[in-house]
Amino acid sequence: MSSTPSNPSPRLQVEGLTRRFGGTAVVDDVSLTVAPGQVTCLLGPSGCGKSTTLRMIAGVEHPDAGRIALDGRVVSEGGLHLPPEQRAVGLMFQDFALFPHLTVAGNVAFGLGGSRDDKARRVGELLEKVDLSGFGDKHPHELSGGEQQRVALARALAPRPRIMLMDEPFSGLDNRLRDGIRDATLEVLKEEGTAVLLVTHEPEEAMRMADEIALMRAGRIVQRGAPYNVYNAPVDRAAAAFFSDIN
Ligand code: ADP
Ligand code: MG
Repeated sequence: MSSTPSNPSPRLQVEGLTRRFGGTAVVDDVSLTVAPGQVTCLLGPSGCGKSTTLRMIAGVEHPDAGRIALDGRVVSEGGLHLPPEQRAVGLMFQDFALFPHLTVAGNVAFGLGGSRDDKARRVGELLEKVDLSGFGDKHPHELSGGEQQRVALARALAPRPRIMLMDEPFSGLDNRLRDGIRDATLEVLKEEGTAVLLVTHEPEEAMRMADEIALMRAGRIVQRGAPYNVYNAPVDRAAAAFFSDIN
């Protein structure tokens, strides 16, 4: 596959992705891309198939049809399904579950290879980026929800994933903290140059964070575009209604 600086291959390219449960296609011919350094939001109501899509990209669920390529390398197609650990994806979910018995530094270093010095350097760098320098020796139960979320971000970024897959990572957070944490998270991801596929059911979150929105309904992508365009020119009444409760 050719790639030039002005037209690099997408970090993630999904084509015709389909998953059926009991005869129903809960993910139905989904295609989407995430460009390097960009945030694509997979946005849609609860039950429309967002998490199933993300799980197939992560490699923990197998598609019935379709193709997934990361950095131009096919990781899932036909009978080929690379296991999650060979996909170089980072994962963040609502229930980010830090290891309670490990320190903050131990959590961030978990799964990192390399020398002790290399690991310590990477952990220090990341704790600084998420504004938790000096927290390395604390345990998760000593931290607020927002602080734990930032540790989870540092842990997911530590191995330098090619893309970060985030499934409603902010929905468990207190309303008053959420906007600040969203902005801080976005800043760290942009600094690291990590491409992101963010799943959310909240239009407001997509408008705030996305470079591109893929609007999903009943297993299908019904519209793709820049947030401004999707918001201002909804593809149909249902899309308009979905966006109408943003205040
Ligand atoms: P979302 O993340 O958009 O809320 P999901 O991808 O979790 O949606 O689920 C999409 C649909 O697929 C739902 O109707 C859900 O009940 C169904 N579903 C998800 N996983 C399974 C499964 N393992 N077995 C059967 N049905 C499932
Ligand atoms: Mg979900």
